[in-house]
Amino acid sequence: MALSPLYRALAELVRIPSVSGDEGAIADYVCVRLKDAGAVFERDADNNVIAFLGPDGDDPLCLCGHLDTVPAGKGWDHDPLEPRLADGVMTGLGVSDMKSGLALMLDAVTWDLEVPVVLAFITNEEEGTHEGSDGVTPFLARYRPRAAVVLEPTVVDGRLLVEAGCQGDLVARYVFEGRAAHSSRPELGDNAITKAARLMADVEHRANGLRPIPLHSGMTVDPSLAVTIVDAGIRSNIIPDRATVTVNRRVAPVENMDAVMEDLAALGPAEFPMVCPGYILPEGDAFLEEMLDVCRRTLGYAQPYCARGWGDAAEFTAAGIPAVSLGPGILRACHEPNEPCVLADLDRCKAVLQRLLGGTAR
Ligand SMILES: [Zn+2]
Repeated sequence: MALSPLYRALAELVRIPSVSGDEGAIADYVCVRLKDAGAVFERDADNNVIAFLGPDGDDPLCLCGHLDTVPAGKGWDHDPLEPRLADGVMTGLGVSDMKSGLALMLDAVTWDLEVPVVLAFITNEEEGTHEGSDGVTPFLARYRPRAAVVLEPTVVDGRLLVEAGCQGDLVARYVFEGRAAHSSRPELGDNAITKAARLMADVEHRANGLRPIPLHSGMTVDPSLAVTIVDAGIRSNIIPDRATVTVNRRVAPVENMDAVMEDLAALGPAEFPMVCPGYILPEGDAFLEEMLDVCRRTLGYAQPYCARGWGDAAEFTAAGIPAVSLGPGILRACHEPNEPCVLADLDRCKAVLQRLLGGTAR
């Protein structure tokens, strides 16, 4: 069976390895596709590619996607770079996160767009630090679209949803100091691991007390707290004089980040190496309403949600640009072996975007 140009583009994208930091070949492919379509585009030294489509205008709508994938983990039934198709489902590394989104962005060059559109193909998103010189940051330093759709996966239980916000991502690191001693005389030392263990029990207790937080009518999000790294002890016969515990808190967008940090600092000697605020578009926000209306008219329903994890759309909104995520990948399939994507979801997402951008296929 011959694949449609959209599905074929997805298969071609999957065949190009593009682990974070190694996006040259996939940027080459994107540039060839843009050039063949006669699009105006530019590429920087870090392989970020920006393209301008549709009528001229200084308030374009941005479609954004990252070119990189995580490395293939264990457990694949086939070569992760050789996509397989069965029963309308394609599997391959990055099909959902987020080469299906990239395929749609490339497809948009063939649409008769009624509004100006800027495509942002960005790099180093998966490995990025949420701030600095990676992901969407270089693009936002130069361009100011009126709004953005990030084509990260938002298909949940077979339904294409609209991600209207995401939780913040806060990392706390606790460093406990003690005094070393021979373990045959522990009373001469001061055990740093014992202090760390107390903290971990407190963290567990705090985590169990977290409850869903209401955002919009009918929408809640679950904040979370977990110990993620413990580093302590050097030998079985030495009382440890140092222990570090890293804790990750996912912060609902309506929680006060300072208050959350104060609460964590009350548990022990905390430093905060990463503080990334989340966001939620307010109920009734004009761009959110526009997206929901487009979904309703195209899909027959519209369902916004707040992601539990952090996403690039938060950086757009932090820059004052309203943003949602909406993409054909399966949210829960990201970074999994045999990562799947339902091809019909590409068509559904394409229909939504075409209604939004006024573009029927040429
Ligand atoms: Zn992604």
